[in-house]
Amino acid sequence: MKTIIEPFRIKSVEPIYVNTPAERAEILSKAHYNLFRVAARDVLIDLLTDSGTSAMSSEQWAGMMRGDESYAGSESFFRFEKTIQDITGLPIVIPTHQGRASEKILFSILGGKGKYFLSNTLFDTTRANIEYSGAEGIDLLCEAGKHPTVPAPFKGNMDTTTLESFIKEKGASHIPLCVLTVTNNSGGGQPVSMENIREVSRICKENRVPMFIDACRFAENAWFIKQREPGYANRSIGDIVREMFSYADGCTMSAKKDAFANIGGFLAMRDSELAMDCRNLLVITEGFPTYGGLAGRDLEAIAIGLREVMDEQYLQYRIRSMEYLTEKLMAAGVPVMQPAGGHAVYLDAAAFLPHIPASELPGQALACALYLEGGVRSVEIGTLMFGKYDANGHTVPAQMELVRMAVPRRVYTQSHIDYVAEVVIEVFQKRDNIKGLRIIEESALLRHFTAKLAPIDNK
Ligand SMILES: *Cc1c(COP(=O)(O)O)cnc(C)c1O
Repeated sequence: MKTIIEPFRIKSVEPIYVNTPAERAEILSKAHYNLFRVAARDVLIDLLTDSGTSAMSSEQWAGMMRGDESYAGSESFFRFEKTIQDITGLPIVIPTHQGRASEKILFSILGGKGKYFLSNTLFDTTRANIEYSGAEGIDLLCEAGKHPTVPAPFKGNMDTTTLESFIKEKGASHIPLCVLTVTNNSGGGQPVSMENIREVSRICKENRVPMFIDACRFAENAWFIKQREPGYANRSIGDIVREMFSYADGCTMSAKKDAFANIGGFLAMRDSELAMDCRNLLVITEGFPTYGGLAGRDLEAIAIGLREVMDEQYLQYRIRSMEYLTEKLMAAGVPVMQPAGGHAVYLDAAAFLPHIPASELPGQALACALYLEGGVRSVEIGTLMFGKYDANGHTVPAQMELVRMAVPRRVYTQSHIDYVAEVVIEVFQKRDNIKGLRIIEESALLRHFTAKLAPIDNK
């Protein structure tokens, strides 16, 4: 087997400004040990997120020039609509400016006090929009998904036994919607099997609960199905995608993920009454139904990106990048989530830095160490992001201490990924010298974005 190459060449480049460890120490200190406070130009390899950070293709840029900016009924909208109808089989398409705008509209209509939304795992903005409506979001992840370093093929699956018993217990009339997130972003980018999608759909139909797919990484999920699920090896990605959506009543989408766009999203569905309510809200929050918060040129870029993302050469390279990095790290003994997810590699910071207790933020300490060592920016998904305080002001730690290295689409090459592996391994070899952090300033909500921290010196 030959090396799997990046199936593209580079037409336009952006500089990476190289800095030294001493300069980065200064930058990190000025940023109060919070990588969200570091300027992008001070980062060598930016793995903060895969959202909105994709490189667009020459076709997408050409499409941008073709964008029809008419207020109503633009050509670009019709191309956007037809593409999504073709790919998903969902007849009604409503553009929005990004994923959470779709969620805001959907859950404003379906949500409210006393209601439950069931999911494998709700993404943060999805959960936030559900809770903002007064409803409750319930994650019913399968057991395999709860053990980061134990491999299994479909760790994003929903636990269908608990799904059935939950619907029985609370009554379907209190459950307006079930949301399957593919791949499961908050659960490590792990895929959901076709069998699970089919079974969740069957249970939902039996109980008359509609089922939507949070489709941000639908193509990456389809690739995993093709690779790992019996009976799908010879099916095309387009075919698999179509089958995935055939079980759903609709979807929410962020085009900042699997559409290679820098902004955008949509809602798609079968129910025309629900669609009318959505469009009513759309016009007061996003815009007229044929642009919904986007420029015509964005609609073009998304329509083209949605087809490009289903290319098998691309998906093979994409998923291989995560496996490649995971394998290199595992070979060096670094504790890493297994198997590799679709869009990111997750380090288990609790196992990486066992000498740092959760109250001293091992994930954040590790993320800072990676920046110091090689200018690699990652994000902590642990106690800084999800920790709380009890009545006595003691830290209640998050369930896991993870560091996510999300890989932007079509942006970095194999040598960049090799460099990242070298940086992580070097930090791993020096891990005993890494110190914990304490918070010196924080806000009440989403504190990880803005908190100021300082190193703890125990000696
Ligand atoms: C990014 C994301 C969203 C929200 O989309 P935005 O475009 O960031 O608003 C929703 N669900 C999942 C699974 C995501 O990854």
